[in-house]
Amino acid sequence: MDDRRAEIARGLAETRTRIQAACTRAGRPADDVTLVVVTKTFPASDVRHLHALGVRDVGENRHPEAGDKAAACADLDLRWHFIGQLQTNKAKAVAGYAAVVHSVDRPRLARALAEAADPARPLDVLVQVSLDPPEQVAGRGGVPVDGVVDLARVVAQAPALRLRGVMAVAPPEDDPDAAFARLADVGAAVEERWPDATWVSAGMSGDLEAAIRHGATHVRVGSAILGTRTPQR
Ligand SMILES: *Cc1c(COP(=O)(O)O)cnc(C)c1O
Repeated sequence: MDDRRAEIARGLAETRTRIQAACTRAGRPADDVTLVVVTKTFPASDVRHLHALGVRDVGENRHPEAGDKAAACADLDLRWHFIGQLQTNKAKAVAGYAAVVHSVDRPRLARALAEAADPARPLDVLVQVSLDPPEQVAGRGGVPVDGVVDLARVVAQAPALRLRGVMAVAPPEDDPDAAFARLADVGAAVEERWPDATWVSAGMSGDLEAAIRHGATHVRVGSAILGTRTPQR
């Protein structure tokens, strides 16, 4: 095992321990939570290490970087999660390799993905929710809370899409518990209308414990496993 694999194995073990401990404290079974390892900015060789260490769910936030890595790892049985803001004109390309898109935040994007995806192999979709105060439009993306159900309906009505739930990034200046509690409420409202929409994608390296406390089913963890990233341009 080379040094890089050993380093990743260590971060992965620590993260899995944190997830298990958080589940135990929340009275939830550990297999309630899927770990999506966010590999953005890291090379395909790291994805191969992760696969060898048992990871099957990987997350990327940009096209074409995501597509290039998926192509370089096409021989591995991986589920690619697209977690970043997505331009409509890239929807077709992303639908070609992603199993899940976490970041659907407007009807136009939902419709573009619906046209691109294959109804025989529906694309799993989460509605990204903005947890920022309504007057404050931040760059994190997401539909305001009061628009979530309408957008979910657009996804649910598309035969090539499968509405799975909601996703959010907690605003860093906010208390993560308060933010994830708001997300849990929105997720429950969506699940009440569409009972298969049970997923809540929330929690990153710094706040996965709070997210699991508030019902996250998918945590998206990058730096705690792969190390510090060089900022993206
Ligand atoms: C980069 C990213 C993550 C992972 O963040 P870390 O702090 O490195 O764990 C999670 N979610 C989204 C949407 C991201 O862009």
